[in-house]
Amino acid sequence: MTDNIAKLKEHLPRQCWTDDPDIIAPWLVEWRDKYQGQTPIMLMPGSTEDVVQCVNLCRENELKIVPQGGNTGLVGGQIPQGEVLLSTRRLNKIRDINPVTNALVVESGATLQSVQDSAESVNRKFPLSLASEGSCTIGGNLSTNAGGVHVLKYGTTKDLVFGVEAVLANGDVYNGLTSLRKDNTGYDLSRLFLGAEGTLGIITAASLKLSPRPGHIQRVMVGLRSVADALKLLDHCRSGDSLAMFEVIPKIGLDLVTTYIPGQSNPFVQDHAWYVLMDWEVETEAEGQSLAETKLADALDRSLIEDAVIAQNGTQAAELLALREHMSAAQKHSGGSVKLDITIPLDLIPNFFDIADTAVLKIVPNCRPVGFGHLGDGNIHYNIAQPIGADKAEFLSRWKDLSDCVFDIVDNLGGSISAEHGIGIMKREDLANRADPVKMALLRQIKSALDPTNLMNPRVMI
Ligand SMILES: Cc1cc2nc3c(=O)[nH]c(=O)nc-3n(C[C@H](O)[C@H](O)[C@H](O)COP(=O)(O)OP(=O)(O)OC[C@H]3O[C@@H](n4cnc5c(N)ncnc54)[C@H](O)[C@@H]3O)c2cc1C
Repeated sequence: MTDNIAKLKEHLPRQCWTDDPDIIAPWLVEWRDKYQGQTPIMLMPGSTEDVVQCVNLCRENELKIVPQGGNTGLVGGQIPQGEVLLSTRRLNKIRDINPVTNALVVESGATLQSVQDSAESVNRKFPLSLASEGSCTIGGNLSTNAGGVHVLKYGTTKDLVFGVEAVLANGDVYNGLTSLRKDNTGYDLSRLFLGAEGTLGIITAASLKLSPRPGHIQRVMVGLRSVADALKLLDHCRSGDSLAMFEVIPKIGLDLVTTYIPGQSNPFVQDHAWYVLMDWEVETEAEGQSLAETKLADALDRSLIEDAVIAQNGTQAAELLALREHMSAAQKHSGGSVKLDITIPLDLIPNFFDIADTAVLKIVPNCRPVGFGHLGDGNIHYNIAQPIGADKAEFLSRWKDLSDCVFDIVDNLGGSISAEHGIGIMKREDLANRADPVKMALLRQIKSALDPTNLMNPRVMI
């Protein structure tokens, strides 16, 4: 191993690698501290050609590669356990923006935020939006098929990309950087890399689809009694395709944010069992205010909601969104937390909450279910916080019991055990145990066709 690493250092340009433990250390710990890793070297290619050289040298020296973008992934897939860590963060150039084709070509290590800003500079919108957008990279977004708060209107990352450029395990470069909306010339190869979590190759660039920029975003937050009412509200609030965000927060979630995150306060006079945060994308502020007032007055009349706050300006809109965006950070203060990211067919979500809350409380009495997230597209982050005053390690030792129980319910309701975070290391065993055997066989055949020596992210997904 030491000799092989020495060969990498000998052949790669000096700016393309580091073995300085202090520089590498932050990239070996995952955001939630659940996974800690190790690596003999961090590669930092600055161009597609550098990536080809890195991949060829690793293959020739029998060194496995773990690709990493912003290190915000939540299933451990970006954390090496002795493999070479390949960071894409120096690959961060915007190569082209074309407002006529509505395509933006960007290197994979650019942050999502920088892509959103570039789109805005030509009066366009790149609609992917996650609380981690300042740090996560486009390569990571594509590799996890990230979801976020706008899936309701715009779909997941898969729906926002024309094609990718990727370096394969054999060192070839697949070039799918197109802006064609129609191209029926065989299998859609770019799609193979979307959601592949770095197991099939290293994405070096992508051609992304831009959307028209809405004239005004009207944000509101409502308090209501139940998730069942929230679902009725979702139907009530649709207006053409203008409803772009529909996020649900339980009382315990809002309490955690307002208690632990400085500067956050509950915008309602009274507490409510559930809250929903919504955005309509419209042309003018007057249109937004009128739509919000009409829909919410009607919802109040029908007793779908108990109270509502309509953002009057950008500052208020940002304050409301911050309450949702701080949900993950606030839960760090509630002690140990089992974190599950699931999807359920929309109409069965209230049943899911009823069944799951009862079942997890039987396994760990007094644990605190915190189910929140992208209700509009059926995706719930079903987290379970430890009982107040319980021992964190003891509670977390029940992770598998709790996740097995919730995943059984999800399977029975026809849902998915991973909505948007992916499989990584965390759910690899669950996928193998629960997925259709034909699906597993196909996944393995595709992996071995593209990466016969298991060079790319070898411990992840399959
Ligand atoms: C506060 C917070 C909020 C979040 N909210 C959401 C949310 O709403 N929706 C959502 O979907 N996710 C969310 N996430 C998860 C995370 O931000 C996404 O999964 C994101 O897409 C990961 O991007 P990254 O650049 O950090 O990837 P990393 O964490 O670096 O890597 C993730 C995976 O992609 C692989 N990978 C990274 N770059 C490449 C590449 N160029 N080529 C091949 N493989 C690569 C890695 O090997 C790993 O398997 C959140 C995370 C945090 C911390």
